[in-house]
Amino acid sequence: MSSIADNIVFVTRRIQKATADAGRPAGSVTLLAVSKTRPAEDIRAAYEAGLTHFGENYLQEALDKQARLTDLPLVWHFIGPIQSNKTRAIAEHFDWVHSVDREKIARRLSEQRPVHLPPLNICLQVNIDNEPTKAGVAPDDLHALANVVKDMPHLRLRGLMCIPEPKANEADAEATFRRMAHLKDALNASLDLNLDTLSMGMSGDIEPAIRAGATLVRVGTALFGPRAPKPQETA
Ligand SMILES: *Cc1c(COP(=O)(O)O)cnc(C)c1O
Repeated sequence: MSSIADNIVFVTRRIQKATADAGRPAGSVTLLAVSKTRPAEDIRAAYEAGLTHFGENYLQEALDKQARLTDLPLVWHFIGPIQSNKTRAIAEHFDWVHSVDREKIARRLSEQRPVHLPPLNICLQVNIDNEPTKAGVAPDDLHALANVVKDMPHLRLRGLMCIPEPKANEADAEATFRRMAHLKDALNASLDLNLDTLSMGMSGDIEPAIRAGATLVRVGTALFGPRAPKPQETA
């Protein structure tokens, strides 16, 4: 079994190669380590091997780990589904939220963001394949949502995030990611924004995401190994 440090070297090489192959500047893609279901010790090991950005999906699990890692200067990203009764803790304990897909959640995050902290960085999650049961704002409704979120005082709208449906091949995956890049460019043009973030690409599709313009890839299993199912998923 390979170590987390070895995996980080391997994934970092994949990112560097894809970035260079795409003719993009070195360092223009951030590796976000998705540490859901992993113990705090794994996050510490990944930090010691050079990572600072960590993504979590489950609030209570994230808060427990954060409490054990307060000695490290980590950047915390919330990437899971958000219920309204969880917004306060998310606004208080995270630097980024990637999974905002409705106005009500954005408004609560802004109102509940402590004023002594910098604005909360926000990505709008887009249901890029228009899947019926999937989280995310429909592409057709994205402009209206961005138009209200951009003016919320304690948020900083940074960009877009997606979790596409699995694609048959890399070319199809890349085409989907390119639609995300077009949506971002269109928002920048029509709303006069400077969105600088495309959060897309996971362990299996880092390369097509980077070719299409990803600035942040969210990688779990390629860094930490396969996840055990969560208890509530085994029933
Ligand atoms: C779990 C998860 C990831 C990481 O997926 P891997 O395939 O393990 O790399 C990325 N993004 C989100 C939103 C996730 O929930």
